[in-house]
Amino acid sequence: MNVEAIKNYFSSYRQTPLQQVTDDIFLQKKINLFIKRDDLIDEHLSGNKFFKLKYNLIEAAENNYSTLLSFGGAYSNHIYSLAYAGKIFGFKAVGVIRGEEHLPLNPTLSFAKECGMEFYYLSRSEYRKKYSEEILSGLEKTFGDFYLIPEGGSNFLAVRGCSEIPKRIEANYDYIFCACGTGGTIAGIIDGSDEISKVIGVADLKNASFLKEDIYKLSQTKKSNWEILLDYHFGGYAKFSSELLSFIKSFEEKFNIPLEPIYTGKMLFAIYDLTKKNFFPENSTIVAYHSGGLQGLKGLRERKIWS
Ligand SMILES: *Cc1c(COP(=O)(O)O)cnc(C)c1O
Repeated sequence: MNVEAIKNYFSSYRQTPLQQVTDDIFLQKKINLFIKRDDLIDEHLSGNKFFKLKYNLIEAAENNYSTLLSFGGAYSNHIYSLAYAGKIFGFKAVGVIRGEEHLPLNPTLSFAKECGMEFYYLSRSEYRKKYSEEILSGLEKTFGDFYLIPEGGSNFLAVRGCSEIPKRIEANYDYIFCACGTGGTIAGIIDGSDEISKVIGVADLKNASFLKEDIYKLSQTKKSNWEILLDYHFGGYAKFSSELLSFIKSFEEKFNIPLEPIYTGKMLFAIYDLTKKNFFPENSTIVAYHSGGLQGLKGLRERKIWS
């Protein structure tokens, strides 16, 4: 594996725009909102997954691993990105998928398969024990030695990658928002933040109070300029209401910024709602981190949840 090629790829990252959103509510409340468009980094390896994979891929290549293995649901943005990274950098990628195989493959997994990813399905109960000795040794028997990346890609190297996000934002701001699944991204943003600004995460899972501890553990700097909002999950992971869907549609129509309902849609909804409730002092500047994930819309379209 060519370590230099991987390093070059990640250092030739394209600077993405910071796009202002001038909706009436923000003018009225004197709030400046910008979206950091990291969804535009690349079509297939974009958003936070670009930063989460960066040091993991370098680490795997430096240690001469030829196989990458990770875990995720059948619509996972992480699995999708990992498959693509495997293809462009010449690793074999294995996706351990929660639940049974469904054929034909959904758009996420069929893209992953085209990239050469191999799948291994675990029942939901096995999946809960995915890091157990028993499951991992079974995976080793099947695939040989591999570089393991945890579910969602969240480990210390992912956090290190995400700590590079804030310094690529060319503006001063009071708040930076991001969507939270496992918390790796926000932990990195906290580590890379200056302590004048506040980092706010919007949790996509229901009952996600455990996230606070996970983020605290993942973060290397143990700063305290952050907060997690637990009440904008819309029923939980991959759950959404028609109100959320129509919000996302109208946002895209007005500003030409696509969102999806699992992560970035909930984050923007939270920012609008908090603005209405006067959460932000007048003249605050907010940056919302667009973490990508737009590939997921294809699966929603196929299931007629999205048009
Ligand atoms: C994976 C993902 C997240 C969640 O990131 P974590 O590091 O797991 O918190 C947020 N937004 C998008 C678009 C994602 O794909």
